[in-house]
This record gives sequence, structure tokens and C-alpha cells, in this order.
Amino acid sequence: PEGAMQADLLVIGGGPGGYTAAFRAADLGRQVVLVDRGETLGGVCLNVGCIPSKALLHVAKVIEDAADMGAHGLSFGAPQVDLDGIRGYKAGVVGRLTGGLAALARRRKVQVVRGTARFTGPHTVAVEGQTIAFAQAVVATGSEPFRLPFLPDDPRIMDSTGALDLADVPARLLVLGGGIIGLEMAQVYHALGSRVTVVEMTDQIIPGADRDIVAPLMARIAARYDRILLSTRVTGVTPGAEGLRVAFDGPDGPQDAVFDRVLAAVGRRPNGAEVDPGAAGVAVDDRGFIPVDRQMRTNLAHIFAIGDVVGQPMLAHKAVHEGKVAAEAACGHKTAFDARVIPAVAYTDPEVAWAGLTETQARAQGIAVRKGAFPWAASGRALSMGRDAGVTKLLFDPDTGRVLGAGICGPNAGELIAEAVLAIEMGAVAEDLSLTIHPHPTLSETLGLAAEVFEGTVTDL
Ligand code: FAD
Repeated sequence: PEGAMQADLLVIGGGPGGYTAAFRAADLGRQVVLVDRGETLGGVCLNVGCIPSKALLHVAKVIEDAADMGAHGLSFGAPQVDLDGIRGYKAGVVGRLTGGLAALARRRKVQVVRGTARFTGPHTVAVEGQTIAFAQAVVATGSEPFRLPFLPDDPRIMDSTGALDLADVPARLLVLGGGIIGLEMAQVYHALGSRVTVVEMTDQIIPGADRDIVAPLMARIAARYDRILLSTRVTGVTPGAEGLRVAFDGPDGPQDAVFDRVLAAVGRRPNGAEVDPGAAGVAVDDRGFIPVDRQMRTNLAHIFAIGDVVGQPMLAHKAVHEGKVAAEAACGHKTAFDARVIPAVAYTDPEVAWAGLTETQARAQGIAVRKGAFPWAASGRALSMGRDAGVTKLLFDPDTGRVLGAGICGPNAGELIAEAVLAIEMGAVAEDLSLTIHPHPTLSETLGLAAEVFEGTVTDL
């Protein structure tokens, strides 16, 4: 249309998927417009997700580590918590990163438009009344917290964004959902002084990970939190003057209990339908996900979709890689999203990290695996940190010794899993890990040793 802003490539959504796609396409010579409805670039991840949660988790870890040292001859006394100071620290971290993105966009001459975009045709969107015409587009609109329909409207009921605001430290907190996001926020509030109850519908916390990998985390938080209710549903929440009365339905929980705040962390839903994909002719499934092929193309060859809006796992590093593929495919490169594994990490204490095949999946799919598991009680570094309750587990093809999956629980598991991810991507076998000299004494040795356990050269653990 005449007078409309023109873009070679229009990117809707400035999260990790969207900004990656925008920057890559600009580097490849395209004139790029990036639209986001938020005040700053970075999407959920930088503004209300990965980064602020990790800043708060760092604070929690320092508090807990300091308390743990009491058993090793070093006492600090009770922490003096200044919520304004902690919020300022978090905002500073987020601000540096989102500001950095704005500078990177300027340097690449990526035009950033603020507002909500909706398709008005196969080559146009409307953003707050303004039309932008595009040759190609990338939908990177991410996801939002799923809202349980029976929860009443009450300011004491928060989603993850509200929890990250850290308005106060409630005396009694219920975390609804024992997945990664719920457990990370539980950790923050517990360290700051809340009494925490976690309620999870399935029979284990972090249902995607193997039970043995989650066990050290479960043991530690079970000893610290008021209650962890498994196989339990919340059936209602009634606001009252004394707090939020929550009704439970489960085998061993109370029938109900009162909390000062409830954090609902029961999953996220994709922002697929909100862009009015139908106006462009882009297909979206009934859950709001936009189906794509391996080049991240939707049913229309000139419109791509990436990140949380295209499906699980809803993780920033997946969105980033998909963003790069989409930009390169849009620029005519021969490329495809071809990751063998996408690692997942819970940044709890201890951390839980896994990648590739899990034992549960192997059993369900009838895939033969043999494992090599190395208990951290036999790691000098873990013992010297006062943290012997960890495990490094590798799953191998019994015939070829190929690494098929990995699960690690313990401090720094999120960093350690990277070696296993590389091993799986490279098609490494057990010997590749066991013959690699790992520095001593490090937690990384447990990967080589897990391979040796599989080979039978380390026994008697
Ligand atoms: P998003 O980051 O969701 O960005 C989408 C952007 O599009 C948003 O800015 C949104 O406002 C904008 N938008 C949506 N619709 C429109 C529209 N119509 N017009 C204009 N703009 C629009 N992942 C990890 O890998 N590691 C972690 O540690 C981690 N921690 C997390 C902690 C929390 C509390 C939460 C909530 C999530 C966490 N995640 C983590 C998940 C991670 O944040 C997401 O996977 C990631 O942000 C997805 O990126 P994306 O580019 O798909 O979209």
C-alpha cells in the first residue's frame, strides 16, 4: 500500500527468537523491521523470564550457601534482606541486556517499531493503525502464562511475572505447579523467608526428567519446604480476609489450607492466534501453535514462525537457533533446524539438567539403553563443596556405546550438561568421554567417570 512502511523482512516479537532472526537477516543485507509490543526488546526471556529469574536465584543461592556453611565452621548470622536492593539488582541486570539489544539493533539499522502487530493480508500487518508491508515475515510472538480458569481474580494470586516483581515475601506461599518455573520461584521465596508448599498434579516434580535425576533436588526441598504435595490437584481457591483458602484433592495432602499468596505456574500457552494469522492465511492449530517445517516455514513459503509459538520445548536457546535458521532460510540459504537434542535445565539448588533420551522415554519407546551413573558422593570436588548428593547419569546404546542421553543433578548441572550435549551432537561413544582428560578436581570429571562406569572400568561405587 502507498505510504506504508516497507520491510524486506518483518519480524513480529522481539524475544530471543525474534531478535536473533532480525539481527541475522540484517547481517545478511536485508532491510528489517522488528515489531514488539513491550517497552524494551528481549521478550519474555530478558524482561520477565530467564534473566530476572536467574538474578533472583543468584541471591537465593548466596543466602542458602551462607546458611549451609554453618555446618562447616563458618557462620554469618541472619541475612539482612533489602527487597528494594534486590529488585534494583535484578532490574540492573535486565536493563544492561535489553539496552544492549537496542544498541545492537541500531548498529544493524534494524528498525524497531513499538506496538501490537496483526496481519491484515498475506503481505501486510497493522501496528497501532500503521500499515507495514513486507516481502517476508517471521512470527516470533512467544507465549504467555496459562491461566487456570477456576482461579479467582485476586491480587494475591500471581503468575511468574508477578512473582518476579517480588512485591513482598509472603509468610505462606503456595506454588501451584512443580515444574521448572514454579520450583525456581519457590526457591527464591523460600530463601527470602517464605514458608513454601508446592502442589503438583503428576507423581513427581519436574515431570519431564527422570525420577533418579530429580531425587537429590526432591530430597533437599522436601526437608526445607512445608509440604510437597504430589499427585494432587487444586480444586478451588477462595479469597478471604485471613488469606487464600486452597482446596486440594490428593492422596496425602490436607483437604485445604490457607496461604498469603499463590503462584500459578502450570505451563504456558502460545501467542499464535493473537496475530490474526488467518488474515494472512497462516495456519494455526487449535492450541494456538503455528505449525512449521524444518526451515521454520509456516504453510506459506514467505512467512516463518519460531520459538515458543511453534511448540515445545519452550526454551530460549531453542528459539535462538530457530531464529537463525528462519533468517538464513528467508535469505535463500540451504539451512534447516536439525538439533539432535535440546537441553533443559532447572536452575534450582541443586540444579537439574538433562538432554536427549531419558530412561522413561527409552522404556516407553522400547529403546534398549544401558546407563553409567556416577554418584557425586565419590567426587572429591562435590565433597569439598559440601554437596555430595548429586548424580551424573549417561545413557548409552548398549551395542555401539553411543551416548543417547544425559541427566545431571547437582550444583552447576546446567553448565555440566553442555559437554553431554556436544557428545550427543557429535555422535560420541563412551570411550570419547572416558579417554578425554577432565581437569581434577572438577565436577566435569563425573561425566568421564559415568562413561567409565558404563565401560566397567570404574566399579565398587
Ligand atoms: P518471547 O520471549 O515470548 O517473546 C515474544 C515477544 O513478542 C514478547 O516481547 C511479546 O510481547 C511480543 N509479542 C507477542 N505478540 C505480539 C504482537 N502481536 N505484536 C507485537 N509483539 C508481540 N528459557 C530458557 O531457555 N532458560 C530459562 O532459564 C528460562 N527461564 C524462564 C523463566 C520464566 C519465569 C519464564 C516465564 C520463562 C523462562 N524461559 C526460560 C522460557 C523463555 O523465556 C522462552 O522460551 C523464550 O522467551 C521464548 O522466546 P520467543 O522468542 O519465542 O518469545
